[in-house]
Amino acid sequence: MIPLTLRSSIDGIREDVVLRINLPEAAGPDDGIIETTDEGIIVRHGNATISIHGIEPTEMAGDVLFVQPNRGVVQRLIRKNSPHNTFLVTERCDQLCVMCSQPPKKTHVDMFGHFSVAATLAPENAVIGISGGEPTLYKDDLFGFLKLVGGIRPDLRFHILSNAQHFVSDDATFLGSEIGRRVMWGVPLYSDQPATHDLLVGKTGAFDLLMDGLAILSQSGAHVELRTVLMTTNAQHLPSLANFIASHVPFADPWAIMQLENIGFARNRWRSLFYDHSEEFGAVAEAIDLSRAHGIPVRLYNFPLCTVPTTYRRFAPSTISDWKRRYEARCDGCIGRRQCGGFFEWHPDAMSYRRLGL
Ligand code: SF4
Repeated sequence: MIPLTLRSSIDGIREDVVLRINLPEAAGPDDGIIETTDEGIIVRHGNATISIHGIEPTEMAGDVLFVQPNRGVVQRLIRKNSPHNTFLVTERCDQLCVMCSQPPKKTHVDMFGHFSVAATLAPENAVIGISGGEPTLYKDDLFGFLKLVGGIRPDLRFHILSNAQHFVSDDATFLGSEIGRRVMWGVPLYSDQPATHDLLVGKTGAFDLLMDGLAILSQSGAHVELRTVLMTTNAQHLPSLANFIASHVPFADPWAIMQLENIGFARNRWRSLFYDHSEEFGAVAEAIDLSRAHGIPVRLYNFPLCTVPTTYRRFAPSTISDWKRRYEARCDGCIGRRQCGGFFEWHPDAMSYRRLGL
């Protein structure tokens, strides 16, 4: 697994700070200069010295770090060579999804100031991911972040995971603005049946609020990626959900059907929630066929390529973030590995896909 938090010896800094680390010839005022020693990496910024162990300098050059002297750690907020950079802006949430990979907490730490600095130091044309918790619980801060960073960096785009239940009609102006339209909103919808969706997200009335939010996103011309985690509970609903999306959310681009992640709440519920599509792909195939007939782009996220019938593999891009992706021993030498996203680092060996291998 690629390390995102690294133990460090930090001298000359008392407050948390965001720094990009760079080679001397490329350094600007917000850059720490990276040096290599026998003990590891040393980053110098003014009078400050940060010693980082256990990682190669070439892996970190250009990274944007959140330096926390009181904890003795640095977090790699942005890795220059990765397309998977996401800011966790809050751990609070107003839902309690049965499969939540990041179970919510009651407390909130406001990091928007640090994230704003970090985003302005991102590589050219980067996509900045925003997740939670529910980011729009702090909608004013979130929109402020987008306006500030998007104004300074017209090359950046954003991907925000949100339950889309906190938009009001006044938000349409920003959502439809030039900066607002640089956002892809990743919005979960788990069933066309309101009671099932509400049950899965642990919130009465969530489905109706979500439909209101999607209407505002649609009116503003925002970009929406609908996301449906595949579970035993909703697998057989997929064909009717495909028809529902075609008639009620036709602007979805794409509709992503996503395999379950064995972490957070899903870990203890794996036996009851995991749906092995490699054994029974019928409902997924029907949903794909219906979506295509309606002109809705559909994707399969987190589906190992060889678990998908051949004719549907083109809908299954590699989507698992690099830092939490692994392959099995059987993947060595597989001709599909380059296109395949593999498995989550924490995917269980037991209760896994029965049919594997090209
Ligand atoms: S064998 Fe491994 S690399 Fe090949 S398609 Fe299956 S999961 Fe992917």
